[in-house]
Amino acid sequence: MAKGKINVSVDNIFPLIKKFLYSDHEIFLRELMSNATDATLKLKHLSSIGEAKATYDNPMIEVKIDKKGKKLHVIDQGIGMTEEEVKKYINELAFSGAEDFLNKHEEAAKDSGIIGRFGLGFYSSFMVADKVEIITKSYKDEPAAHWSCDGSPNFTLKKGKKEDLGTEIILHIADDSKEFLEESRINELLLKYNKFMPIPIKFGTKTETLPKPKDAKEDDPAPTKEVDNIINNPDPAWTKQPKDLKDEDYKSFYRELYPMQFEEPLFHIHLNVDYPFNLTGILYFPKLTNDLNVQKDRIQLYQKQVFVTDNVEGIVPEFLTMLRGVIDSPDIPLNVSRSYLQADGAVKKISSYITRKVADKLNSLFKNNREDFEAKWNDIKIVIEYGMLSEEKFFDKADKFALYPTVGGKYYTFEELQEKIKDNQTDKDDKLVLLYASDKEAQHSYIKAAKAKGYEVLLMDSPIIGHLIQKLETSKENLSFARVDADHLDNLIKKEDAQISKLSDEEKEKLKANLEEVIENKSYTVQLEAMDSNASPFIITEPEFMRRMKEMQQTGGGGMFGMGNMPEMYNLIVNTNHELVGEILSTKTTKKRERLINQSIDLARLSKGLLKGEELTEFIKRSYEMVK
Ligand code: ADP
Repeated sequence: MAKGKINVSVDNIFPLIKKFLYSDHEIFLRELMSNATDATLKLKHLSSIGEAKATYDNPMIEVKIDKKGKKLHVIDQGIGMTEEEVKKYINELAFSGAEDFLNKHEEAAKDSGIIGRFGLGFYSSFMVADKVEIITKSYKDEPAAHWSCDGSPNFTLKKGKKEDLGTEIILHIADDSKEFLEESRINELLLKYNKFMPIPIKFGTKTETLPKPKDAKEDDPAPTKEVDNIINNPDPAWTKQPKDLKDEDYKSFYRELYPMQFEEPLFHIHLNVDYPFNLTGILYFPKLTNDLNVQKDRIQLYQKQVFVTDNVEGIVPEFLTMLRGVIDSPDIPLNVSRSYLQADGAVKKISSYITRKVADKLNSLFKNNREDFEAKWNDIKIVIEYGMLSEEKFFDKADKFALYPTVGGKYYTFEELQEKIKDNQTDKDDKLVLLYASDKEAQHSYIKAAKAKGYEVLLMDSPIIGHLIQKLETSKENLSFARVDADHLDNLIKKEDAQISKLSDEEKEKLKANLEEVIENKSYTVQLEAMDSNASPFIITEPEFMRRMKEMQQTGGGGMFGMGNMPEMYNLIVNTNHELVGEILSTKTTKKRERLINQSIDLARLSKGLLKGEELTEFIKRSYEMVK
């Protein structure tokens, strides 16, 4: 038996590993499983090129808990190690056997899918074990080796008693890590990190029910048998070619990924590139609500089928982090900070590739089945609108398929909309004015008035719509958006043929004074306008700019110049050409005049949804008096 000291500069590196290196102790299992997978793939490869004798037909990796002995075993049927290799690979801390193998079999290694270094690899076992043993038999026909180390740099190495090829790692779980002796905990970890690893993983057995034999009696129990409990799917959908997958396969993979998701995805995008970087994956568009809160089922990042993280920030463009699915790429550096990640050339390319693929998919869905695309619009618009806001390239592409729904349920692309409204909604300064509503019910009277003039009214109700409108106005020429209640229509779309006021200047002065007397503390700015005599006599409006700024402030960002918490601002538009306004002006008795004004303003407020509480009760009471 050989004894030795692992050559490390700090005498007790293991406590250090334990303490500082990983906050996530659980990843030791991922590292061991990765090593076991690598070893298995290597042996497969070597036997395929005739360098190793044919071995296991269907190799697997087994994970076993020995609760009584406080041990956790990871057993693989891979390439194994000779005594020399144990010294070299295991004892020399900085040595990576994977690198060594990679240099020797570089091309081959790519195909067989060697999992790269995640960090400290094997030694991370010492985060949870106070003694680790390796019993390993190499394919090179040498006796097995048995290495053992108690967490100090001292190790022993002797001949082992293993006959079959492969490696068994035995962790003597430390007292403070007892959780890793729990079946449920190990099961959870295997499902988290290894659910799609390429080699079958056995964890215990399970009982399978067999079909009843033909001659069985009605109440004979169905026969059962104990079978290996394989916890992973070694061939997940994203590793296959799109042409070999049907729609149903994508859907069932979605269920496999998110077993707790009961809603089906709207559609998927299969990612598959190998140059200039390697990336595979499947993204799904889930049904999204207007609720922008962080959701728990997120895109998962894998490397060679090993789960790395479900935080893809910096890799996937932010607006697409609302999607679900998997991406798998060996070209994403893992041991770096997020900010370094974002600066990485390959990652930048990956990110813009994903954006392009998503845009292309949306475009083809739009072109191939517009009806279906329109039906899904409400569920996907938030991603698209957010993308238009945040990624210039996506904005350009989305111009072809982004839809602008009307309150009447029609969907236009921007180009179609422009064509449709340009004659009627271009103002005298040659500006195209797009009218919109954010709430069909609340803004009903304003919508109705706009429609009466033949205007199209869009329904724009996303939480980020203010930002998008701002973006559209600055990117497209001669364009402005106005919500239907932002001003009266003749002001929203100013035409040459302005109405002539029936009132003289003095009459206007007088009217204004009358009104202001009554509304003194209601904080509306009175605005006299000569409008069509059929238009409403009183309208309450909310100026576009201030309202939009306020909304944008609420959803964050967007060019705020210290506006603090802005108050709501309303104008009271008075149609000087309306009969009722004329009547108010000619009413001699103050009391009657005040009553007319109050009642009219309350009607205007009612139509804007501003009349509430006591004032509403008063209004109703007063109105009953009047109808008597
Ligand atoms: P890495 O896997 O990143 O190279 P590790 O410290 O995990 O680093 O492992 C060091 C080396 O030990 C591996 O590269 C491999 O050569 C060898 N090794 C580890 N586990 C096994 C195993 N289960 N079977 C065969 N060789 C292994």
